[in-house]
Amino acid sequence: MAKLTVRDLDVRGKRVFMRVDYNVPLEERDGQMAITDNTRIVETLPTLKLLIDKGAKIILAAHLGRPKGKREATMSLRPVGLKLHELLGRSVAFATDCIGEVVEKAAAHMKDGDILLLENVRYYNEEEANDPVFAEKLAKVADVYVNDAFGAAHRAHASTEGVARIVAKRGGFAAAGLLMERELKFLGDELENPARPFVVILGGAKVSDKIKVIDRLLEKADTILIGGAMAYTFKLAHGVKTGKSLVEPDHTGTALAAEKKAIERKVNFQLPTDTIIATPVDTGKLNKKGKPVYDLTNIRTIRGDIPDDAEGFSIGAETAANYARIIQSAKTILWNGPMGMFEDPRFAAGTNAVAQAVVDATQKNGAKSIIGGGDSVKALNKAGLGDKVTFMSTGGGASLEFLEGAVLPGVAALSDKK
Ligand code: ADP
Ligand code: MG
Repeated sequence: MAKLTVRDLDVRGKRVFMRVDYNVPLEERDGQMAITDNTRIVETLPTLKLLIDKGAKIILAAHLGRPKGKREATMSLRPVGLKLHELLGRSVAFATDCIGEVVEKAAAHMKDGDILLLENVRYYNEEEANDPVFAEKLAKVADVYVNDAFGAAHRAHASTEGVARIVAKRGGFAAAGLLMERELKFLGDELENPARPFVVILGGAKVSDKIKVIDRLLEKADTILIGGAMAYTFKLAHGVKTGKSLVEPDHTGTALAAEKKAIERKVNFQLPTDTIIATPVDTGKLNKKGKPVYDLTNIRTIRGDIPDDAEGFSIGAETAANYARIIQSAKTILWNGPMGMFEDPRFAAGTNAVAQAVVDATQKNGAKSIIGGGDSVKALNKAGLGDKVTFMSTGGGASLEFLEGAVLPGVAALSDKK
């Protein structure tokens, strides 16, 4: 069932309680907390501008870090308020608490189009416990509820779920913000009946992290391309040696079951044919976390068994070229998980080649390309291709759960479209 969105609402003069994802990275500079990446704030601007135009009184709630129920000064949302003011070019009032008299007083003085940012909701343990009394306190200033925090929608917390339920129970509306609406459209609706061929690229660290996604996509995809360390568990299941690679011997059965399902459903299921490996050599040194530091020596490409003393770090050039060719003929592409340890430039080529193929398919072939997963998004941005795909999810863990077909509590709590 489609969810109500901010577009559907008449909010003039109403207090709109909006949950946003302002969990931004911070760094201490000269005794002050400074935001190192504004992306999450920028992403909320379209919804905010729409609500301002509609004459709402906007009350913003968010969490920052893990203060564990304490007022941690370093996790205050105040710097976010200052940045939002700068980005919007309008004043943003700040409440030093998220519940109680300070909030009610500030809300009482708001005019249409005003914005009030509340302090970190996780200063209270009741937030993550989804405590009903706490949710009632938050909901005191909410005539309407809007959720634009897709990245927090997989958690049933007071500000992501409890308040929505309370507002709906009172007969008010709980709606998706524009960012949330886009996430539901691209990770949900667009993949229900995708234009074909529908090519899915799956990589990343572990089969166990992704098995539910693989299982669900085996029912929808025409082709699945496997890369990253995940491929080694499939290889191991076929008796290929994986050396010191990141592998999950307990999940070879899972891997074989996925391949069997692929055959049954006539999905073109591809594993890498070549691998870039290196031989790790202990330097005898420890890193800041006390873990041994290895030099990765003798970087080379192999087919078949990985030697006992070596470790796989990426798909090879032949696999990358094969995958790129398949991707270029796709009409819908979903990508989750990098093709190798892309953070190290020596192992980024495979991931970058796949990224370029996704961009080409999008730009030249009119394919819809959808990227989900925190590290996949990072890999695309690192290659400078982030703005050349159709959609990049902001969800991280939430996007993975949504792709698995899970019902996200923060989405379930929103009102259905009539
Ligand atoms: P996403 O966040 O996009 O869902 P994952 O978290 O599943 O992706 O996996 C990303 C991580 O997997 C990256 O940090 C990457 O370095 C790592 N990775 C990918 N391939 C390998 C490999 N062959 N060996 C070690 N790590 C790998
Ligand atoms: Mg990740």
